[in-house]
Amino acid sequence: MAIIGIDLGTTNSLACACRDGKMVLIPNPLGEFLTPSAVSVGEDGSIYVGAVAKERLVTHPGVSVASFKRFMGTGRVFCLEGQSFTPQELSSFILRQLREDAERFLGEEVTEAVISVPAYFNDNQRYATKQAGKLAGIHVERLVNEPSAAALSASRISGREEGCYLIFDFGGGTLDVSVVDYFDNVIEIIAVSGDNRLGGDDFDRLIAEKFCETRGMVYDELEAGERAELLRLAEKCKRGLTVQKQAEFIYGAGGEAFHLTNVELAEMGQKIFERIGQVVSGALSDSGRTIEEIDEVVLVGGSAKMPAITFYLQAYLGKKPCVIGSPDEIVAVGAGIYAGIKERREEIKDLVLTDICPFTLGTNVVNYSDRSNPVMSPVIERNTILPSSRTRTYTNSYDGQAHISIGIYQGESYYCSENIELGRIEMDILPKKKGEACFSVTFTYDINGILEVEVADLQQNKKLWKTLTSGSVRVSEEEIEERIKEMRDYKLMPPGGIRTMLVQARGERLFRQFLGRRREAVAAVMEQFQRALLETQNDQQIIKLAKEAEAAFDALEG
Ligand code: ADP
Ligand code: MG
Repeated sequence: MAIIGIDLGTTNSLACACRDGKMVLIPNPLGEFLTPSAVSVGEDGSIYVGAVAKERLVTHPGVSVASFKRFMGTGRVFCLEGQSFTPQELSSFILRQLREDAERFLGEEVTEAVISVPAYFNDNQRYATKQAGKLAGIHVERLVNEPSAAALSASRISGREEGCYLIFDFGGGTLDVSVVDYFDNVIEIIAVSGDNRLGGDDFDRLIAEKFCETRGMVYDELEAGERAELLRLAEKCKRGLTVQKQAEFIYGAGGEAFHLTNVELAEMGQKIFERIGQVVSGALSDSGRTIEEIDEVVLVGGSAKMPAITFYLQAYLGKKPCVIGSPDEIVAVGAGIYAGIKERREEIKDLVLTDICPFTLGTNVVNYSDRSNPVMSPVIERNTILPSSRTRTYTNSYDGQAHISIGIYQGESYYCSENIELGRIEMDILPKKKGEACFSVTFTYDINGILEVEVADLQQNKKLWKTLTSGSVRVSEEEIEERIKEMRDYKLMPPGGIRTMLVQARGERLFRQFLGRRREAVAAVMEQFQRALLETQNDQQIIKLAKEAEAAFDALEG
């Protein structure tokens, strides 16, 4: 029985196990470590996960989804082929795929996993992630914060036992920057900052828009299929720029090649870099550290591989970021280390993980310039180490005030109306002259994300309190058991069929995108492939045929 570590990403997911003291990444049926976090429902109700589902996002948009991690812990429901799925159910398909891949690869049953989550994930999002594990038949006792996992693997790989790390995690659609301390075997997240609408996708889009500009086209006026094709070419071009100074692509039959250099990309990305700079300085200033006090700037996430990013960070911070291992694998390796420690049943004995509150919690106070629009009075500030209990005292705001209404808010805005209201406590107080009443508000936030608020009128010796677990609905154990059974009825693609399915899905996408000669060529490759399939049952032969078809598609796609 094995325990594995899983990086359940917005764009890509991967799993890692500890074997003979070494960290091994788990290959999927296509032999790759990264499985796109995409899910698609087939006509027969079977579930496609990964590369096939990613192709189907273009050809079957109504029954395919990606980026659902963004909606974990919310009430959002995705409707695919007449069936509804929550984000945790969609995530459970990815987890099941990873589990099955790991079982095949390790030759053991996988019963438990350590899953990494963003540091800013609130209790609902963490709960939803655990549910996803349950629905996939995996016990998830421990979640680990992504920056902690990255710091742990950075420290193991680099051999630097202790230090202060700035973890720069730049993925497909999210940027997370954290300052993490690793001393005396304690990993402590000192600060987190991020932009959850900034990632590698923005560069793809930038390249696509630039292309349109030079061709007198308007990106937003392209059809969905054309946009998808252009973005795919742009992404490939962007990846090309990590290994060479210049890359190019051809869009459409008979089109002229579009050339791009790293220098041009860096110029085009000015706005993106500015936003990155803000996030980085936000994390640094919240941490109270100077860049000199940071021992390593660690590059994490697929987009951190871009030379333009390294270059920018070095100029901005005056410190060279380091690449430790492969940026898009480092979080999974960290989760794998935790899994390894658990597996040996040594408990995480000398590794204590502390947590932080990722947002500010506060209450409302009078805004004297506009009484109808109260302002925020922070009680527990973001990045406070948990558990935490803080008290602030307040007074009445006008003569004879007999009632107070204490709002409980989460967020960083000056005005309460722009923050999230979590709850409210109403209390009658003894009427006094303005400024003479005295009451205290205590917020206690524990490690599980449960907030308790107590309001005390100090003159009356009267206390009221409220316990809040942020927003969403909790499901009962029976409901979960029921849903686990239902989820089991969905069949994942058998591993042997994934390669042929991918040829089929990619062929369908290309047929839709191309016109004229290239379209005919795609049809010919598909026909030849399908005919050949009918004549063989041999797995090796099938893989060979699929690889030939893929090579033919590669040539057509340029
Ligand atoms: P997430 O954490 O969001 O799941 P990843 O860390 O896997 O995502 O990053 C995915 C992003 O990384 C995509 O935008 C992809 O284009 C980008 N990426 C992957 N490899 C490279 C590369 N070699 N050069 C530039 N960008 C890359
Ligand atoms: Mg990631």
